[in-house]
Amino acid sequence: MRLNEHFKNLGESYLFVTIAKKVAAYQKEHPEAKIIRLGIGDVTRPLAPAVIDALHKAVEDQARQETFHGYSPDSDGYPFLREAIAGYYKNFGVELDPSEIFVGDGAKSDLGNMLDLFDRDNTVLIPDPVYPVYVDTNVMDGRPIVYLDATEENGFLPLPDPGRRADLIYLCSPNNPTGAAYNKEQLQAWVDYALEQKAVLLYDAAYEAFITEPGLPHSIFEIPGAKQCAMEFCSLSKTAGFTGMRCGYTVLPRELRFGGVSLGKLWQRRQGCKFNGVSYLTQRGAQAVFTPEGQRQIREAIACYQENARVMMEALDRLGIPYTGGVNSPYLWLKCPEGLGSWDYFDFLLERAQIVGTPGEGFGRNGEGWFRLTAFGDPAQTREAMARLERLGQ
Ligand code: PLP
Repeated sequence: MRLNEHFKNLGESYLFVTIAKKVAAYQKEHPEAKIIRLGIGDVTRPLAPAVIDALHKAVEDQARQETFHGYSPDSDGYPFLREAIAGYYKNFGVELDPSEIFVGDGAKSDLGNMLDLFDRDNTVLIPDPVYPVYVDTNVMDGRPIVYLDATEENGFLPLPDPGRRADLIYLCSPNNPTGAAYNKEQLQAWVDYALEQKAVLLYDAAYEAFITEPGLPHSIFEIPGAKQCAMEFCSLSKTAGFTGMRCGYTVLPRELRFGGVSLGKLWQRRQGCKFNGVSYLTQRGAQAVFTPEGQRQIREAIACYQENARVMMEALDRLGIPYTGGVNSPYLWLKCPEGLGSWDYFDFLLERAQIVGTPGEGFGRNGEGWFRLTAFGDPAQTREAMARLERLGQ
């Protein structure tokens, strides 16, 4: 018996553990300190009333013989939810057949599991800094990774380098952690590059609902040619507060074929073998998100987070601290003042202002010297955190 040796190449997942340890140690020493947590990217608002109503109804369905649901007839999602999601895409002018939408238990699982479809010798292009799941899931398979520098100079929105080979390309827009979002021309450059390379674009749209600037694409499928080269991962986690419910969806258009093989068909085969679908209750709750009432209610919660982001941006503007994000994203990515390293600034903020954020270094080499704050906190606490920051003068 031999273990998967590639696990040895994984970096320690120490980021949030180290943060928790540091915060616990500080709190122990200063029991009276009122620590404000703007670090972890979890939501804080409860589910929308329309979702709660749908969940109650679904519970009643399960209580009666005539409406009871056991195994779902197909692991890719009930037609009622796949149709509701296809309807949502019409808002962006994207026509999808419900059969091109695959419901899963969140973007993280789908992003990781999708790699079952690809050879382990494929070259993977991943921006740095980035959501660490793309890197770790490929390291586990031993795939060669090429990093793409996302820096202050390119506005954390790197563009393709035509001389560089790639088979799998990850893009996340609006981005975690930088909050930067690509426009149509930039995404067109990526689609053209992927088509030319005969590569697959793995497009993570988990934060599309936070886009406020008109004209910015919410889906990669708004870009001509994308259906031939891209798949899109989406999640109800941040959009509708489903971080604890677990529901997401991945779009694999019919046109996405390599060597005559449909990736949607392969994914369906993979899921049918290793996954028995998202619970009926969760799918009924998710369906409610896409009703007019559900959309209005989730928009209220998103607006609350966006207001937090605005409060944070104004404070950073007044302090003259450079940052990206906030406008189209629940994340603010700020440059650590006075050339401090990410962890030094973490310690500084914890000790001097009792604010917890996330050191940028945890998202990749280029995150050093940068820091992520989230707008998912409580509004009063967010305002208090910014007042503390301003009192510090940085
Ligand atoms: N993609 C990005 C960029 C994320 O930041 C996250 C969660 O933080 C996910 C995917 C995972 O989402 P889910 O909760 O649907 O697994």
